[in-house]
Amino acid sequence: TQAFVSGLSKTSNSLVGAMDDLFRRSKIDEEMYEELEEILIGADVGVTTTMELTDRLRREVKERKIKDPQELKPLLSEILSDLLRGDEGDLKMNLAREGLSVLLFVGVNGVGKTTTIGKLAHKLKEEGKKPLLAAGDTFRAGAIEQLEIWGKRVGADVIKHQAGADPAAVIYDGIQAARSRRADVLLCDTAGRLQNKVNLMEELKKVHRVIRREVPDAPHEVLLVLDATTGQNAIQQAKTFREAVGVSGIILTKLDGTAKGGIVVAIRRELGIPIKWVGLGEKVEDLQPFDPDQFVHALFA
Ligand code: GDP
Repeated sequence: TQAFVSGLSKTSNSLVGAMDDLFRRSKIDEEMYEELEEILIGADVGVTTTMELTDRLRREVKERKIKDPQELKPLLSEILSDLLRGDEGDLKMNLAREGLSVLLFVGVNGVGKTTTIGKLAHKLKEEGKKPLLAAGDTFRAGAIEQLEIWGKRVGADVIKHQAGADPAAVIYDGIQAARSRRADVLLCDTAGRLQNKVNLMEELKKVHRVIRREVPDAPHEVLLVLDATTGQNAIQQAKTFREAVGVSGIILTKLDGTAKGGIVVAIRRELGIPIKWVGLGEKVEDLQPFDPDQFVHALFA
């Protein structure tokens, strides 16, 4: 919870700061709702979700006969928790009960994919599991080396080919290596260049096919890494990746670096894909399982 509170302080200060000013007024009127909508949209909650939130707020205010604007804050936090909760079950990572689990990481360059793989490998090690990393981004200069640095840092082996090699071949080797080294979880990095989107998506589909063919029930997760500081852009990215390879979970990074953490709500509501982890900083321990209640609590702290 402390991690959430400090990681979300920028959003909390700006969003709740603006709300506190608003709710200090003497009465609840239409102007207040409109200003609240502006504040929420400004925090990247997204237009659709903002309307959903304020419609519900209006309804509850009427039903409960609320007159004091100060009561809107706890009410809003309640509604927000409710909207975010959704299906609790899918917040957990899906791993194989027995044998090898394969996690496929996708996302555009710079969102924090490599960093997240490193952080997650560290978490898995802490749980006593043996992770193995596969350097499937053979396109971006430095991507392989960067993954190796993370591998060294957290004590996980990295399977790699040369720059420019076929990513599907790297992942295939990763699977064979994971089996022979008795690894529990294979974390597959992939390219995120956007210059040639069609080509990238074809490459990801091929990687996906190899994983499916080689390991029963795999990939156990296709994790899309999104950068919270890119705002509504992140939603568009999610749609593109979802169409190409399917996405089972989202990892939202850099929440500590934005005052617009409302994007969490937009992603949850508009995409219907569970956010499984959030990045709250650059250090290895700054990856937290997403918890809707902790999120809302930290926001309104
Ligand atoms: P990739 O191109 O997607 O593999 O991105 P990288 O893993 O190289 O990350 C890009 C930059 O984002 C690096 O400087 C990371 O330290 C930084 N980064 C990643 N996750 C987070 C996060 O949760 N918070 C912050 N503040 N920075 C992050």
